[in-house]
Amino acid sequence: MTTVVVGAGLAGLAAASRLRAAGEEVVVLEATSRVGGRTRTERLRYGQSGDLGGSFIDLGQDRILRACADFGVKLTPTIRLFEPGPDGRIDLGSVLDNTVVVEGRLLAPEERAKAVDEVRAALSAVPPVSTESVASWTARSGLSRLARRLVRAQTGMNPVHEPEEIPMSAIHPPHSGKTCWMIPGGADSLATAMAAGLDIRFGQPVRSISRNRSETVVTTSSGEFACDDVIVATPVTPTRGIGFDPVLPEWKAQALAATPMSQGGKVVGQYADGDALRRRLGETVTSDGPIAFAWAGPIGEQDTVVVYGLVPDRNDGFLRDEGRALAALDDLVRAATGAEPERLAGVLQDWTRERFAGGVVSCPMADFPRLPALLAREVGQGRIHFAGEHTAEHWVSSMDGALRSGDRAADEVLLRRSVGSAL
Ligand SMILES: Cc1cc2nc3c(=O)[nH]c(=O)nc-3n(C[C@H](O)[C@H](O)[C@H](O)COP(=O)(O)OP(=O)(O)OC[C@H]3O[C@@H](n4cnc5c(N)ncnc54)[C@H](O)[C@@H]3O)c2cc1C
Repeated sequence: MTTVVVGAGLAGLAAASRLRAAGEEVVVLEATSRVGGRTRTERLRYGQSGDLGGSFIDLGQDRILRACADFGVKLTPTIRLFEPGPDGRIDLGSVLDNTVVVEGRLLAPEERAKAVDEVRAALSAVPPVSTESVASWTARSGLSRLARRLVRAQTGMNPVHEPEEIPMSAIHPPHSGKTCWMIPGGADSLATAMAAGLDIRFGQPVRSISRNRSETVVTTSSGEFACDDVIVATPVTPTRGIGFDPVLPEWKAQALAATPMSQGGKVVGQYADGDALRRRLGETVTSDGPIAFAWAGPIGEQDTVVVYGLVPDRNDGFLRDEGRALAALDDLVRAATGAEPERLAGVLQDWTRERFAGGVVSCPMADFPRLPALLAREVGQGRIHFAGEHTAEHWVSSMDGALRSGDRAADEVLLRRSVGSAL
């Protein structure tokens, strides 16, 4: 029995590995020339790497932690991005309680502490409802101009759109950052390790998936692949571009239509005097500028450091202009550290324009519990399965969620096989 997996991101690779381990014939069709999808790493100077997509692994993300252990992928020492508040939990105040640059100026520690206290008091006096927009809560809670500006700037962190479009659940409490890790060799090294030994056909963008009584046919720009089952492990937007015949049931099409993807990218700069720069920068930098959130990675052997900046797509051309983005990263580092940075290398990655990604991550605006379940559910008499970060039951939108979703889709196929042979 053959299964075709569409997409060689972490979800597709997890599905294919699990099926192969169970003795299934598996072919992975990948549109691009590489594995890893939204995990992509730029190799910089002196053997240092810069993740352009997924990067942090969080405490509790046991699936990816196990995969790293299985494949010998090393992790950094633990990183703590945010400090807990007085009640021991991380909250929106924790995100602001770091280096903050507003209108190009570094906030003094006492100004910042005042804003953090104000936000925490507002969270307790006017508890946000998860579905109300950030713009709505900041108006309703009567925050001062500075605190409102800081909270509204958090909508750019994921990176996502404007405060009017983002539910409070996306920024409070933060989903991660208390204890996490990175992969010093680059986040895409996990995908590379998982891909070894799999039958992956590159340059095969899937155009349509059709089913008749006896088989399913997956058509790419250059070939046709007949199979028993298909696992569609493509992100939300590219999935909407595949021609399903028969067409997807209404509930599935509506679930896909109701799940937009956040838009934006990442600017990555490698700097000299890494240790000193990192100490001055602090754990994270929050800003109301074009780079909404930044942090420094581990120090390299030649005392270099990679600074990462998340860039929400505000449709102003910033994400298409590498020179401007790198200059803005230098400005942010200068403002945050008070020192003149020496940049050795840098790169800008625009995920909005990546045709086979369609954006950064799925960003459901409502009906949070139900949408991933609908996005995950199989169709075509149980022969067309769906995986990908947006379909994950746990850790949706993350690398861990992607792996889990691939496991689940593979199990659906295997269950159908075992039920079929038992009858
Ligand atoms: C800037 C950024 C920062 C992030 N930060 C983090 C983080 O710190 N921690 C974290 O856990 N997660 C993070 N993520 C999210 C994480 O990277 C993703 O959730 C995860 O990698 C998604 O894996 P996936 O397999 O579901 O999809 P993808 O990785 O997108 O894989 C899908 C694959 O399908 C292929 N494909 C698409 N259409 C077709 C087609 N028609 N035919 C054939 N192939 C097709 C694509 O080329 C791709 O290889 C971040 C993502 C971005 C972009």
